[in-house]
Amino acid sequence: MTPEGHALLLQGGRELGLELTPYADAFARLLALLREGSARMNLTALREEPDIILKHFVDSLSCLRGGFLDGELRVVDLGTGAGFPALPLSIVQPLLQMVPVDSTRKKIDYVSATAASLGLNNVHPLVGRAEALGHDAAHRERYDRVVVRAVASLPALVELSLPLLRVGGLLVAQKGPITPDELEAGRKTAGVLGGVLEDVQAFELPVLNEARTLVVVRKTRPSPGKYPRREGVPAKQPLF
Ligand code: SAM
Repeated sequence: MTPEGHALLLQGGRELGLELTPYADAFARLLALLREGSARMNLTALREEPDIILKHFVDSLSCLRGGFLDGELRVVDLGTGAGFPALPLSIVQPLLQMVPVDSTRKKIDYVSATAASLGLNNVHPLVGRAEALGHDAAHRERYDRVVVRAVASLPALVELSLPLLRVGGLLVAQKGPITPDELEAGRKTAGVLGGVLEDVQAFELPVLNEARTLVVVRKTRPSPGKYPRREGVPAKQPLF
């Protein structure tokens, strides 16, 4: 990481209320590994160092706003792709037991190798689809949190995530700007899946000032057994 990149990382962290100096070496290593991995396979469209630092690292860490991911928690990162937000969160919050999930094996292979290389023994990557894991007794209602970034619309995320959460657990969805219609559809879907919309925080990504929204849904009762519906249906035919 260049000195300019290092300064950007610290500035982004400061704007989120995080002191990232102790983690700067880990993020420099993550940057190098992501670039190496991207040269071999399609991991991320971002190539420039400032973009990776702000739009992957700092953007992932913005999921920590509000303290919803503080403490010893079992967390699924649903649709982790190249490990976002799972890897930045696991670097900064070692108490999290993080399960990055993706349906694409080569992405999970990359995340596993990267976590091992960074010495992150709190990361437990898993190949799978949320629609299947939600009906697997080893995963249904087993997690304290589901965190998600850039995977689907809010109603689909709610249907895919709530079955994985224990009652009392939270879905923390980091999104760009969200329309009132998407929010309302998400709220209604939460009602069907056994949850309530708990918090909606609009904020700006540090330095770039792009609009972001953190949507938090709390599970308040068990999800009906028929959810999630079969593969692809939650995204293609949302309940609302
Ligand atoms: N969360 C990452 C990020 O913010 O950079 C990756 C986002 S990428 C646009 C979406 C990822 O979600 C893809 O890697 C895809 O394979 C995965 N995905 C989509 N639907 C999924 C599902 N139902 N179950 C598991 N993974 C899924």
